[in-house]
Amino acid sequence: MTLLIKPGDRSDQVADVQARLRALGYRIDDETGSYEDSTTQAVREFQQRRSILVDGLVGPNTWGELVEASWRLGDRSLYLTFPLMRGDDVLKLQQLLNAIGYDAGREDGIFGPNGGRAVRHFQREYGGTEDGIFGPVSHTALLGLRVDRPGTAASLREELLLAERADMTDSLIVIDPGHGGPDDGARGPNGARESELCWDISVKVAEMLTHSGAKVRFTRTEVEGPTTSERATRANDLHGDVFVSIHLNSLDESNAGGASTYFFGGSRLGERLADSIQHELTGLGIKDCRSHARAYALFKETQMPAVLVEPCFISNPEEEKMLEDPLLRGRVAEAVAAGVRRYYESKGR
Ligand SMILES: [Zn+2]
Repeated sequence: MTLLIKPGDRSDQVADVQARLRALGYRIDDETGSYEDSTTQAVREFQQRRSILVDGLVGPNTWGELVEASWRLGDRSLYLTFPLMRGDDVLKLQQLLNAIGYDAGREDGIFGPNGGRAVRHFQREYGGTEDGIFGPVSHTALLGLRVDRPGTAASLREELLLAERADMTDSLIVIDPGHGGPDDGARGPNGARESELCWDISVKVAEMLTHSGAKVRFTRTEVEGPTTSERATRANDLHGDVFVSIHLNSLDESNAGGASTYFFGGSRLGERLADSIQHELTGLGIKDCRSHARAYALFKETQMPAVLVEPCFISNPEEEKMLEDPLLRGRVAEAVAAGVRRYYESKGR
């Protein structure tokens, strides 16, 4: 390719320019590879639209723009390499990833480090190979998300989940008993340990849900105290449909009491699940400390609708007493299980 193609020329290069312009929707009257008026006019319009110098000539800059404009998303694999990949396919990818909540950086049509990170993040959440290469598999996954609709990536992913799994008996519920191992969590004024109470409540919740026909798995054994990331990884590896983490609240102020539930902001299903559990807990007469959006690492790393429940305060003497009573503890567990059941029953509506 020479560096200048201009009016009056007649060559394969002119024909190439014309073919690219036609593919972009510009009207070219000539069929013979001649750089005539309609070609000049199309080049000028193209230059105007791309905000480059409008001279009606195809020099290196205009040629480069024409090549970039010719790429459609899916034509080639996109990844971080040097020199950086450029093109309208990169621009389209940036727009789509940004629209669904992945930070692909400035929408400039250049695949830089931000783009690489966003693609990896997307692949991680959609379960593809996390190689940072936006190829056919990632493309299909992205197109399947109906990205023209508002909402975060998490909520869109959940809609897919919802469509696939409507019934609790087809679901795998992951229960995450808080703390454990060397980590006791908070201690009550009477000496109750958060880790032990959470374990017992979790076991009861699991029994009740299993009785209702669900499959249930734990993120830890009775003696383990995995890290947050380990818990999330276990849940993800299990392909859990719902994640319920069980803790107890604690404050220096011993009067503080009540139930709270947390979900990942932007996760509509997480919010629904949190509200449902919260509703059942307050139905027991426990004070309503409401459900709250939180950006906990646990929520970011788990790939399914996730909540963290704190049915009451271990630091509150009366609530500690309630928790130490196996019967009342069973009621708390029943409320959590009922919240999960209700979430499934109301899911389709
Ligand atoms: Zn805790």
